Amino acid sequence: MIEYRSDTFTKPTPAMLQTMFHTEVGDDVFREDPTVNRLQEMLAEKFGMEAGIFCPSGTMTNQIAIKCHTQPGDEVICDKMSHVYIYEGGGIAFNSGCQVKPLEGDRGRMKASQVIETINPIDIHKAKTQLVSLENTANRGGGSCYQISDIQEIKEVCLENNLKLHLDGARLFNAIVAKDEDPKVYGNIFDSISICLSKGLGAPVGSVLLGNSDFIEKARRVRKVFGGGMRQAGYMAAAGIFALENNIDRLALDHRHAKQIEEALSKKEFVGNIMPVETNIIIYDVVGKYTAKSLAEEFLKNNILVSAISPTQIRMVLHLDVSEEMVMDTIRLIEIL
Ligand SMILES: *Cc1c(COP(=O)(O)O)cnc(C)c1O
Repeated sequence: MIEYRSDTFTKPTPAMLQTMFHTEVGDDVFREDPTVNRLQEMLAEKFGMEAGIFCPSGTMTNQIAIKCHTQPGDEVICDKMSHVYIYEGGGIAFNSGCQVKPLEGDRGRMKASQVIETINPIDIHKAKTQLVSLENTANRGGGSCYQISDIQEIKEVCLENNLKLHLDGARLFNAIVAKDEDPKVYGNIFDSISICLSKGLGAPVGSVLLGNSDFIEKARRVRKVFGGGMRQAGYMAAAGIFALENNIDRLALDHRHAKQIEEALSKKEFVGNIMPVETNIIIYDVVGKYTAKSLAEEFLKNNILVSAISPTQIRMVLHLDVSEEMVMDTIRLIEIL
């Protein structure tokens, strides 16, 4: 099987498993797991931020961040395609009692001018605008990347209006590799950053939330309340450290593979609009002789798994379990479909 449904399907390699097997662990709720501590420090240092906290999922790191930045009744500004808004089970309302002002961005990316227009005046009739949440790369934007200058403009709006700025960086390393950026630039701008280790980086489980020390102390309490305090989590953190040490640079290969598949798709009549491929995600419209569902079935007959994410759209995601050879096989199939 060739797995394109998501980069969450990656399985630990023998080398990663060996590292996990030999790792030193302790009780992380007591902050005594040396491997968890090392992972948190390693990522905080990479982004030039004060502290980090290891959590079971990216949903949890986002939800903890939103909880720490807001009070019930506040308003959160994000793109209408944001993971925090559409894929976290209504968690912003459930966990934080906040409402969302979803904006119509460009492939998941908002502009500072849109954020300004959306901030509520100080008025007892209005929800208090408190937090702006960005996503980079934007999943439903087809793995699109923000320009740093656009993020900086949004940050200025946040500073002028006393808003916090969170980054859902589930695939931030894809953006950093694609655009050859310095992680510290992000650390310098955002109040909090969530990073997934379990996507294209290839770890089985886990995300890290970064922020300043006070924020991460608060996050530690909320993680406990959410039931995310883990004990000998060092086995999972070891996989995360291995991923950070070995699997960042190779993301460029996934991006190259995605471009190659995009090129093959672009020659087909049954493929309509393809979202510009910037990283490891390909989202395209299916037209003519196939529906998204029937095309996915056609792929499946040939042992290729893709996602029909709407009646007309297919998503394919590249990752470290898709080899060069598998990409070539996929392209050969696309050519004859
Ligand atoms: C995967 C993902 C998350 C977190 O997902 P979990 O499955 O909870 O780890 C958050 N944001 C984006 C954009 C994602 O793609």
